[in-house]
Amino acid sequence: MGNIPLANKPVQNVCVFCSASSHLDTRYYDLAEATGEAFAQRGFRIVYGGAQGGMMGRMADAALKNNAEVIGVLPKILSDRERAHKTLTTLHLTEDMHTRQKKMAELSDAFVILPGGLGTLAEFFEVLTWRQINLHDKPIYVLNAFGFWDGLIETINQMNQERFLHAPYETLFKTCKEIDDLCDFLSAQ
Ligand code: AMP
Repeated sequence: MGNIPLANKPVQNVCVFCSASSHLDTRYYDLAEATGEAFAQRGFRIVYGGAQGGMMGRMADAALKNNAEVIGVLPKILSDRERAHKTLTTLHLTEDMHTRQKKMAELSDAFVILPGGLGTLAEFFEVLTWRQINLHDKPIYVLNAFGFWDGLIETINQMNQERFLHAPYETLFKTCKEIDDLCDFLSAQ
């Protein structure tokens, strides 16, 4: 894995990781839509996995409706299972999952993690571990809406307390509960 360019400019392109599931409680889709709308209103360009369904699709739809640019990055291997969103500003099709992850990271100035499943966790830990070894220094924010990520945050806290982490805890990622606070953090970068 080559180096991801370091963050050296204000946040403009925000990479969002979230659920591709279509079987969630409505509050998660509402959250995804509110995030897409808020990012559009704050003038952020969104980079995400390119899927049409789940929270991913709902976030993209809301952002597009509010005139944001939305860039999807979908691996060819997933384009049957996770159908590509049809009306994105740009859709990149990549050869494999690793190329996708690297492309998303290259296109983005910051990463945001909304509630999600194992795919979201994999994406979060990839950018988190890359940051831990200085492959990039782009900010990572976990939107802990509804306390969804409480257990995960507690586990990483424990890693920190027991000195399992390889970088100062405060430098790795930040958490917030409200979309407005998240937008303020991103704008203040
Ligand atoms: P999920 O959180 O499981 O609903 O998945 C959300 C997104 O993560 C989907 O777009 C998946 O394609 C993606 N994903 C699944 N597995 C991985 C992985 N190993 N690495 C990176 N992304 C993944």
